[in-house]
Amino acid sequence: MAAAARRVQRSPDEITLVAVSKTMPLALIAEAAQAGQVDFGENRLEELLEKVDAAAAAGLGTVCWHAIGTIQSRKTRLALGPIALIHAVDRLKIAQRLSRQAAEMGRTPAVLLEVNVSGEASKHGFSPASLKAALPELLQLPALRYCGLMTMAPFVADPEEARPIFRELRCLMEDIRRAYPPAEYPQATWAHLSMGMTADFEVAIEEGATIIRVGTAIFGHREYE
Ligand SMILES: *Cc1c(COP(=O)(O)O)cnc(C)c1O
Repeated sequence: MAAAARRVQRSPDEITLVAVSKTMPLALIAEAAQAGQVDFGENRLEELLEKVDAAAAAGLGTVCWHAIGTIQSRKTRLALGPIALIHAVDRLKIAQRLSRQAAEMGRTPAVLLEVNVSGEASKHGFSPASLKAALPELLQLPALRYCGLMTMAPFVADPEEARPIFRELRCLMEDIRRAYPPAEYPQATWAHLSMGMTADFEVAIEEGATIIRVGTAIFGHREYE
């Protein structure tokens, strides 16, 4: 991470590593936490909330949890648990439900908007055009704090092939920040780009990632998803 940041004159401190612990037992999470890892990501909300409780019961101190997976609309309430950042708000309907339920609870959760930059049918997220079209409505929602954008790059053999995807996400956020500047839209900071996984996080950092989500390189291969 540090080497990739330095290659493009960025400070390694600007980049948060989310250790993706999905399917991994608490013992491995504890080991990582004891080694100093703070941020952990899970894609299934039930599993995330179980681990929140288990980690608290095991006395793991400062652990921050990230919800990185797609949220089904009937499960939005689960995403309003003790979660530092919701990475994958992928459609207006999910944002509307989250905002309504959060407002009822007096909460203002931090979210990222997921963008399907590559346009692959298998990927979730707003297309860049549909995101721009939805932003006026998204920014009307009372309870969400928009911290930036997230994407999943296609699985490619050579991480260089993911570079244009990461670059496009960064340019899209620059456009959005110009159109909806934080000075006028205090609920939006447009500060974070969550992009890059085990196979491509170095390229993502070179292209401006502020959050990378890495599972396999930390915990080894998963037996199931
Ligand atoms: C599993 C997962 C990751 C981590 O993938 P690795 O290739 O194991 O690093 C990152 N982001 C999301 C959304 C995931 O579901």
